[in-house]
Amino acid sequence: MKKQVIILGSTGSIGTQTLDVIRHYSDKFEVLGLACNKNIDLLSKQIEEFKPKFVAVGDEKAAEKINPSGFTLFKGEMAVINLCMMKADIVLNALVGIDGLSPTITAIQAGSNIALANKETLVTGGDIVMPLAKKQGVQILPVDSEHSAIWQCLDFNRERELSKIILTASGGAFRGRTRQEIENLKAKDALKHPTWSMGAKVTIDSATLMNKGLEVIEAIHLFNTDPKDIQIVVHRESVIHSMVQYSDGSILAQLSYPDMKLPIQVALNYPERGDYLFSPLSFENLSLNFEKVDLDTFPCLSIALDVAKKRGLAPTIMNAANEELVKLYLQDKIKFYDISKYVRKSLDKFDSNDRLSLFNIENVDYEVREFIKNSIWCY
Ligand code: MG
Repeated sequence: MKKQVIILGSTGSIGTQTLDVIRHYSDKFEVLGLACNKNIDLLSKQIEEFKPKFVAVGDEKAAEKINPSGFTLFKGEMAVINLCMMKADIVLNALVGIDGLSPTITAIQAGSNIALANKETLVTGGDIVMPLAKKQGVQILPVDSEHSAIWQCLDFNRERELSKIILTASGGAFRGRTRQEIENLKAKDALKHPTWSMGAKVTIDSATLMNKGLEVIEAIHLFNTDPKDIQIVVHRESVIHSMVQYSDGSILAQLSYPDMKLPIQVALNYPERGDYLFSPLSFENLSLNFEKVDLDTFPCLSIALDVAKKRGLAPTIMNAANEELVKLYLQDKIKFYDISKYVRKSLDKFDSNDRLSLFNIENVDYEVREFIKNSIWCY
């Protein structure tokens, strides 16, 4: 029997690469559902090729352009949630931002395993999502390259005891530069990532190192570990995707060229290994470099490390502010260091000690976004 896969965010960077992987393994997987916001041209091609039973389009107007013959079409705000009510073997969640949280929860409740490329799910709702997945007996399969690496180093046993996680960071587009040099650099500069080709949001998060902070919080939930047991090392070649240190000091690393199709296929094929699609690493002319992370030049990371210790609603406050600020930075409406400045202001302004519930997460998320919009408007 083929595994049935639902892909959330099918027209984005991870979504299209997931379909590349499924195309390669057409004897093992079939597409049960596709969801996107409004890229109907690409979605139509995907529907024609992969013949899903269900399609979800977030933008109601865009959905009008689709003629639903041979599949059920969900449209509008609840489209993705409706799609996630369909039980699949795997729901690959490649949505961007906190919008990924409630679809993950719905899919877990429907009994689907989750291949998680949406890190904000665990950043904001990890303390809800992980216990729920356990209760429902579904797997959370990491797709983020670092977490996939850690998972592989643990031989796919997320419960295995480890003494330390060593999370590698490429350092983003502005690695090695000074504050003065970075201050006036624009989003177009930040989008030139040295090693990875990814969506705009995560590429900006890489330049601020917020991405690494979000990944620390993601790792805490996935591997039930403490922030003090996670070390970040800058490794500019992005060949070692992360490492695990065991109690005897032995360190295991996962190496490959930076290509998201590898963590995607690892998650889809779990617990088996696929046949590889890629050229394995060549050691000829390969040199691996490591540096200390520069928290002064990249304050978003130190903010995130504090937030990782606090938990509660603090990660949601930080994430909501960051999402709005990244949007503004992408439109050249704010400067690079305004991102950390206003993330910090948001954390000072909002109370993170309220009870953690989906309602409170969505509520504070909304409030923080309004605060950012109003602050920048006056600014
Ligand atoms: Mg990553």
